[in-house]
Amino acid sequence: MLPKLEYEDSFVKVAGLVGGEEYVKVARALLNNIDSTDEEIASATGLKINKVRRILYDLYDKSLISAVRVRDPKRDWYVYRWRVQPDQVEVFLNSIKQKLLNRLKTKLEYETSHQFYHCGSPTCPKRTFEEAVDYMFICPECGNPLRPFDNREVIEALNWKIKQLEEELKTPTKAKKIEIRPEET
Ligand SMILES: [Zn+2]
Repeated sequence: MLPKLEYEDSFVKVAGLVGGEEYVKVARALLNNIDSTDEEIASATGLKINKVRRILYDLYDKSLISAVRVRDPKRDWYVYRWRVQPDQVEVFLNSIKQKLLNRLKTKLEYETSHQFYHCGSPTCPKRTFEEAVDYMFICPECGNPLRPFDNREVIEALNWKIKQLEEELKTPTKAKKIEIRPEET
């Protein structure tokens, strides 16, 4: 079972969408400790340094974080310090939402322009009218008759989600801002 997230924000959400739980750990470590180095993140998350670097480079490639090269005075070599780019995070999140919106609109178009038939068995798929005719109104999987399927609830749910996404995309300033929390002592 996945641990419950106690603290969510756009960056953590995006990190999770990009790469799952390990990305979420790195994202949280970065938010908790601004300008962390790879090593600091590795020790904060318990992840191996190579894994942390791979994740950081990926987030950097996607412009979600920036890197500053600084000299480590103790060891006299250069290290990178990483920082979240809140504006880019919003852009990235919006592009994900836009893609989802387009998919939902295509699905809505499909749902509203077809008549569906179903056998009533939850494991069997819905059929379009054309398919139902081809199967002579008998479910090819379970053998039960295919009857008209009322998809109004599906359409309602799609409309609701589409409206919600459109609202969110219209008002980007309302999106939850990234909070950079000071290091906990
Ligand atoms: Zn069936």
